[in-house]
Amino acid sequence: MKRFLVLLLWVAAVATARAEPVLLKGEPIQGGLIVGQVPAGSKAALDGRALRVGADGRFLFGFARDQKPEATLVVTLPDGVRETRRLEVARRDYQIQRIDGLPPSQVTPSPEELERIKREVAKVRAAKATDSAVPWFAETFAWPAQGIISGVYGSQRILNGEPRAPHYGVDVAAPTGTPVLAPIRARVVLAEPDLFFTGGTIILDHGHGLTTTYAHLSAVEVALGEEVRQGQRIGRIGATGRVTGPHLHWGMDWFDRPLDPARMVGPMPAPAKPAPG
Ligand SMILES: [Zn+2]
Repeated sequence: MKRFLVLLLWVAAVATARAEPVLLKGEPIQGGLIVGQVPAGSKAALDGRALRVGADGRFLFGFARDQKPEATLVVTLPDGVRETRRLEVARRDYQIQRIDGLPPSQVTPSPEELERIKREVAKVRAAKATDSAVPWFAETFAWPAQGIISGVYGSQRILNGEPRAPHYGVDVAAPTGTPVLAPIRARVVLAEPDLFFTGGTIILDHGHGLTTTYAHLSAVEVALGEEVRQGQRIGRIGATGRVTGPHLHWGMDWFDRPLDPARMVGPMPAPAKPAPG
């Protein structure tokens, strides 16, 4: 009898474990990142796109700025059983600024500059396409710099009726020289002192296609291929590239999908009070 009970409990435990083989952390929302956990040896796909599943069963995916309201995650467990999750993706309202009656733009890059821009865009795209097996993306993110948030993810300007590219990142305004720290562990996949648009630029790889970008830096203090730990200084805020004032542009991408890094951290901490006297 006792043996039978133990067997029953064991069956119940297995059934419970089987009931929730797919754990997801993060909010399904436009610009959001989801970290999942499945039994090791499982396969996963989001809307038909295969996801890298780590040896520990961890994986990730993200939602674009204009992601449609539904996404489908299919997990194939090691025994071949399929689990399907329909995710309702929350919609966001973005800041849209319309400015009409502007004189036509005077600034047209020269053919040499256009060549340079093309080369740099390809370099950045290649860095963001990094698909490494490191599991660091599951760590808890910290703000890379302290300052005033002067730009948010998804905002867009419509100049003379022409929509400009949305702002894919969060801007932190602070004086030139303010330290920029790695938000979690990472490997440097791009370290450039002076790109045409983004000036001093660093891209960090956190694994499985998740990268973060740091732009307009006055100093780039890491080298390509270097591994950095959370909180390590990687550079300093500046006003390099095409900007009007010193700030950090912080971007986050899941491969070709720009995500909202501000969703990965809490509110900006209040500035430290100067010591009395
Ligand atoms: Zn920006």
